[in-house]
Amino acid sequence: MSFSALGLHGALSAAAQARGYQEPTPVQADMVPAVLAGRDVLAQAPTGSGKTAAFALPLVQRLAGASGQRPRPVRALVLVPTRELALQCGAVLRDFAAACTPRVEVALAFGGVSINPQMMALRGGADVVVATPGRLLDLVRQNALRLGTVQTLVLDEADRLLDLGFAAELEQVLALLPAERQNLLVSATFPDKVQALATALLHDPLRIRVDAPAQAPAIAQRSIAVDAARRTQLLRHLVAQEGWSRVLVFVATQYAAEHVAEKLYQAGIFATPFHGGLSQGARRQVLDEFKAERWQVVLTTDLAARGLDIDHLPAVVNFDLPRSPADYVHRIGRTARAGESGVAVSFVVPHSEPHMRLIEKRLGMQLAREVVPGFEPREAPAPAGAGAGGVKGRRPSKKDKLRAAGLLPPLPPPDQSPS
Ligand code: AMP
Repeated sequence: MSFSALGLHGALSAAAQARGYQEPTPVQADMVPAVLAGRDVLAQAPTGSGKTAAFALPLVQRLAGASGQRPRPVRALVLVPTRELALQCGAVLRDFAAACTPRVEVALAFGGVSINPQMMALRGGADVVVATPGRLLDLVRQNALRLGTVQTLVLDEADRLLDLGFAAELEQVLALLPAERQNLLVSATFPDKVQALATALLHDPLRIRVDAPAQAPAIAQRSIAVDAARRTQLLRHLVAQEGWSRVLVFVATQYAAEHVAEKLYQAGIFATPFHGGLSQGARRQVLDEFKAERWQVVLTTDLAARGLDIDHLPAVVNFDLPRSPADYVHRIGRTARAGESGVAVSFVVPHSEPHMRLIEKRLGMQLAREVVPGFEPREAPAPAGAGAGGVKGRRPSKKDKLRAAGLLPPLPPPDQSPS
């Protein structure tokens, strides 16, 4: 099937082909005609399945042939949860927008950088704005843009935008949009808790669900049992043994990203951290250098790595396990993009075994724990029952658990504390 057969104009089909897309992916084949027809869409498709182009191509086509009004009224709003996704999605839209005459203007709005250039860029208006919610609201407050003319709203990584962390901001943005509009929600996962919100946003949507390919999975998933204290060593060992040209390693905290990167770097591996605590300039530089293969190992947190598209990334390592099954899916989806293959390795320390089992159960799979010679785990496993309280939420500390098991005395009241 060709892109033209989906109803796309010659210039846009050519632009897709110029990006190396020979034919539409399944999600594109379903989504493009529906978006062109003005329908609401809820698309659930695995990471790397071509979702960005699935909405970007028809969106740009609908925006082409603008009224000539100046400043340009914002007719489409693409909301994304992170700056990196804003940049990535903006680049795809701009690529397609450049194929149109008269050209379609794409503006970007994301936090972490000075607001002034973004305000300047919006002076002439824009046909489509790609934004993170917080900065978008700042720009509205400063009268740099109005959203009352938006005809199409896209939520990219919609599950994340519909989740609690963004709820208040999303609500404020929605209140600024016309009630009558086209809504496009795309994501790799739609957990139950956001289904109702998603449904409330949509009007008679086309529901698209593309499942991960049934043939041999492109992502080989492995899990290795190891002690917490030996993980950095094991990572070094794997980087040397497995011949990974590049590897994205997920850790739980910004501190861990810094700390492990430092240790690897001292051991002669080109490793660097990438997380939300870095300046936007530093983040972009790390990403560009990683894509250019100047860094071999990038240590990152969930926050910073969602939705990132890095070509030919052969391996992902969960140094710390993700908090939720959805995060697991998103993390491992950074490898094996666009039909390539890749490996996702999870380090399972004795204490997090129950947590890993929960993730496996929720995802309907079971991975055998490998033991790498020289890295046999010796730490005590988690006490029975730990982890049964749910995947998310505060986990009891080691002392809490010992106390619960009666192995430590209860905390003395403050007035009886030894002085
Ligand atoms: P996405 O799911 O939007 O993050 O896209 C994943 C990757 O697939 C990106 O690197 C795209 O450039 C690539 N891609 C998107 N559509 C196609 C297509 N029709 N054919 C080949 N590659 C594609």
